[in-house]
Amino acid sequence: MAESITHSDTDVKTDLKSLNRKELKQFCQELGLQSYRADQLFQWLYQKGASSFDEMTNLSKDLRARLNEIATVRRIKIHNQQRSIDGTMKFLFELDNENRDKIEAVLIPDFYSDGTANRLTVCLSSQVGCIFGCSFCATGKMGFFRNLSHGEIVDQAQIINDIAEKEFGKKITNIVYMGMGEPLHNYEAVVESATIISDEMGIDLSPKRITVSTVGLTKQIKQLADEGQPFNLAISLHAADDEKRNRIMPINQSLNLEKLEESVRYFFQETMRPLTYEYLLFDEFNDSKHDAHKLADIVQWVPSKVNIIMYNKVEGVDLSRAREHRLDSFMQTLVGRGVTATVRRSRGDDIDAGCGQLAIREGQKRGKSMRKEWDETTAEQMNN
Ligand code: SF4
Repeated sequence: MAESITHSDTDVKTDLKSLNRKELKQFCQELGLQSYRADQLFQWLYQKGASSFDEMTNLSKDLRARLNEIATVRRIKIHNQQRSIDGTMKFLFELDNENRDKIEAVLIPDFYSDGTANRLTVCLSSQVGCIFGCSFCATGKMGFFRNLSHGEIVDQAQIINDIAEKEFGKKITNIVYMGMGEPLHNYEAVVESATIISDEMGIDLSPKRITVSTVGLTKQIKQLADEGQPFNLAISLHAADDEKRNRIMPINQSLNLEKLEESVRYFFQETMRPLTYEYLLFDEFNDSKHDAHKLADIVQWVPSKVNIIMYNKVEGVDLSRAREHRLDSFMQTLVGRGVTATVRRSRGDDIDAGCGQLAIREGQKRGKSMRKEWDETTAEQMNN
């Protein structure tokens, strides 16, 4: 629990969205409320997106007044939004904290041939910035500022779900944790938020439609399996040998492919759930036939599939999107090896769709001293 519960006459208010469902029940119990009140509050917070107690009209006036005295409801808000000609919508959210930090989330619609919406995928952020410093990533260049709370993560999904219903006449259909930050570096909040999103009193999205991605934090991958978390797992691989992966993803220097293989095998053995490898295809870097064969070897560790992603250029990065003929040849090699692979064409090319770009453009108004970067201490921590 982030803050202690106070009952009256104090200036410490409980942020209800810092409580998980069990803690919210406990909060209600301590106030002498019946247990259905906890369900009502939960729905207001995570399904209806209330930002004040006054909106909670099925609570008595007295109860609302009492809650106003002892508790608060923090909620993020849209600061800026962009819409691509392909329908992709990118949102820059401002967080309800002293620094007014900015994070991004994206709504990616797929359409049937008659123009109606098919899949509505939302990409969520889990941290302000990121410590892992992958060389191709705009967020990685910001450094790490702080973790998001589970409430701040659910808010992104809830606000975009409301927009999807207005814009496309249906709820969001899929969630991926692939925005700013490394989701498994903020394990508790990410798992709690995914649990709330899949709760029927939350957004009621099947856990089978929720994917948590990671650069390969092996301990947390095993933890997901040990806890029986029902969400899908994706590995951001992006290179299929240690030498190339070390060059673009510093995490690989401490958690290399051998360690990743061990955790992935453990995950499958415990859950029997196939996983997905995300592979950004960079021109003349990881897009040769030889690279495709190495990737096919990795895919054979456990049943899995590959998403080949066409890269959105990031300022100051000398890697670029693979050319079409190299993509074709790469895909042919994978298919020839029996790999299930799909190509994810980049979306929102005409807006700042690469994760972190919009937040950087708007500027994180935080001192440099509050920022952390990847270093040897972090690498050591990852190994423990
Ligand atoms: S790719 Fe993911 S893990 Fe790597 S720096 Fe970007 S946000 Fe962090």
